[in-house]
Amino acid sequence: MTDTEVRPTTSALPTTTLPSPSSVLDDARHQLAEAICILGYDEGLHSVLATPRREMTVAVPLRHDDGRHEVFLGHRVQHSLSRGPAKGGIRYSPHVSLDEVRALAMWMTWKCALLDVPYGGAKGGVALDRSALSLPELERVTRRFTSEILPIIGPERDIPAPDIGTDERVMAWMMDTYSVASGYTVPGVVTGKPLNLGGSRGRASATSRGVVHVALRALEHAGITGSERTAAVQGFGKVGRDAARFLAEAGIRVVAVSDQYGAVYADGGLDIGELALHVDRTGGIPGFIGGDVLPLADLLELDVDLLVPAAVESVITAENAPRVRARVVVEGANGPTTTEADRILAERGVLVVPDILANAGGVVVSYFEWVQGNQSYWWHEHDVEVRLAERMSRAWDDVTGTARTRGLSLRSAAMCLAVERVADAHQLRGLYP
Ligand code: NAD
Repeated sequence: MTDTEVRPTTSALPTTTLPSPSSVLDDARHQLAEAICILGYDEGLHSVLATPRREMTVAVPLRHDDGRHEVFLGHRVQHSLSRGPAKGGIRYSPHVSLDEVRALAMWMTWKCALLDVPYGGAKGGVALDRSALSLPELERVTRRFTSEILPIIGPERDIPAPDIGTDERVMAWMMDTYSVASGYTVPGVVTGKPLNLGGSRGRASATSRGVVHVALRALEHAGITGSERTAAVQGFGKVGRDAARFLAEAGIRVVAVSDQYGAVYADGGLDIGELALHVDRTGGIPGFIGGDVLPLADLLELDVDLLVPAAVESVITAENAPRVRARVVVEGANGPTTTEADRILAERGVLVVPDILANAGGVVVSYFEWVQGNQSYWWHEHDVEVRLAERMSRAWDDVTGTARTRGLSLRSAAMCLAVERVADAHQLRGLYP
């Protein structure tokens, strides 16, 4: 889209309230504490693993198109560097806070370890409403944030990627800003770049492919087979949209989809391609004529085989978990299930595939992009897809195998595997000085 193109006006659409971010950090800390307890680690090691290695909070001043100045707050948190450079997305959302970024950085550490990619974990974000900025404003804010965090990022240090509210265009500006400061082109500083700037084939849809890969394994694991399987997907952004598409392509009837503005339901299954065209045209799901309007909150409580929360954190809570009727929940988003809700779902026999496994496809192909960039040698899309499927399958087998042998939930098994790998790397390296 160019500066002069008209963007869909989403500001006229009603939005929803979001969870308190500090509870997300509590959830992340609770998951770690539980794994520490199962693994029998001492409090010293626990505090090393619980504490972010490096945090940077910066002011990001923006000169608006009308000359006004506004200052946003940005953060970059590197939770762990024990297994390699830090890796994690950049989020643009009014709800970004340091605690939220800390939680997301910690989850990135476990995700990279679980999928055995040679990275630590990081996350970043700027507290802003992207839809309120023009394209030139978005570019200026991105370039200024990048230059503020420049001392701690780099292809060997910390490699950002897209997350909520950011995309390949934002990554291109970040890469360019870093490269201008370096005096030469440094494609490896970010992943999720446009193809023409060294992005990997298959990166844009990798998270969704991974989600659907494990969703199909999870349905099979739960004994849900046959041609009448149904799904509901919350979120229709970079993850949810392609997840819905791939599910439909795999023969699953996607009966409901939502975004922050509304939800739509069709008993016979939604036409995801038509819905995507409608959202591109209007900016949101409301007004789509291929289904019935559904109250937003009802999507999570539909009687479906598979529920894919792929929007934001803390949407399945102690309040609504007793009413979740899906047999399998596959966490496309990071942290969509609170600690208390997780316990309720487990008691009710709902199979929950945790975020650090379910949505890891993005970081796996980000790793492929980084490898390709370092070697200046580009793979075919088919190679990317085959290697992604192999890694997701291996991680699924590792997690379900550990869950079986240790008698754990999939989340606890995934956490134990990941925490063990990070702790091992930390102990092998030793503590300096
Ligand atoms: P995005 O900004 O592209 O899309 C987010 C979507 O969620 C939008 O459709 C938005 O309207 C919708 N949404 C927001 N609040 C909602 C609500 N209350 N109810 C229903 N829908 C709501 O973001 P994304 O990149 O798709 O990320 C979604 C989630 O997946 C986040 O938790 C992110 O951290 C996680 N994730 C993303 C990637 C990636 O590669 N993009 C990788 C791993 C995990």
